[in-house]
Amino acid sequence: MIETDNRIGDKVKKGKKIYEGKAKILYETDNPDLVIQEFKDDATAFDATKRGTIKQKGVINNEISSALFQMLELKGIPTHFVKKLSDREMLAKRLDIVLVEVTMRNIAAGGLSKSLGIEEGTVLKTPVLEYHYKSDPLHDPLINDYHIEMLGLATAKEMKKIKDYSFSVNEILRDFFGKVGLKLVDFKLEFGRFKGKILLGDEISPDTCRLWDKKTNEKLDKDRFRRDLGRIEEAYQEVLKRIKS
Ligand code: UDP
Repeated sequence: MIETDNRIGDKVKKGKKIYEGKAKILYETDNPDLVIQEFKDDATAFDATKRGTIKQKGVINNEISSALFQMLELKGIPTHFVKKLSDREMLAKRLDIVLVEVTMRNIAAGGLSKSLGIEEGTVLKTPVLEYHYKSDPLHDPLINDYHIEMLGLATAKEMKKIKDYSFSVNEILRDFFGKVGLKLVDFKLEFGRFKGKILLGDEISPDTCRLWDKKTNEKLDKDRFRRDLGRIEEAYQEVLKRIKS
């Protein structure tokens, strides 16, 4: 057990590893309601067929996610965020994750451009919400409300909350990034259950959002890794710098 001091002064004991994902490790704490999310520098893309590391990514993404979760909480979106514990560690509420990944899109890119033949960069008439079944063996297939009900992934009431929060998060983040010269192209959210409530979980970072410079359209996100565009760490640092400005 490692003892981790936090700002309030109470101590959280880091316990056993619960799960190791592609970009984060989840640890138990001595409080059954709380977990520690540790952000790694590892990066994967294209269904984990491409692997690498991005220097300092874990530190940068923890700082960006912590700042964004705090901002969203202030705007009335309930999240799992409790506090940033250290460079790479975030204390969070332990969620029962809903196995539905929500994608919100404002500008065509990635999967949408490919599947519907819409040129990357086309501004969408309305934000587009998509659901994907969070399943590595099935490669996260695109699903809709009927699949969700049929698979029993969430109730209709839970999905209504998830949908409403997702559109609100899009408005808040689009506005926030817009003010620091960034276009929010698209992003992915994950939600979970905590004491009967739906909370926003996971992370919000250049790993999970596409962010383009407003003036130059320069990509400042994981597409630099996916497409070998170089200057990856610099791009992540630039997003952090703007968020902090
Ligand atoms: N995304 C993510 N995790 C995934 C798949 C997508 O965080 O497993 C993010 C991705 O970074 C982008 C948005 O969700 O900001 C939409 O991604 P898309 O469906 O276009 O898939 P991709 O092009 O990343 O394969």
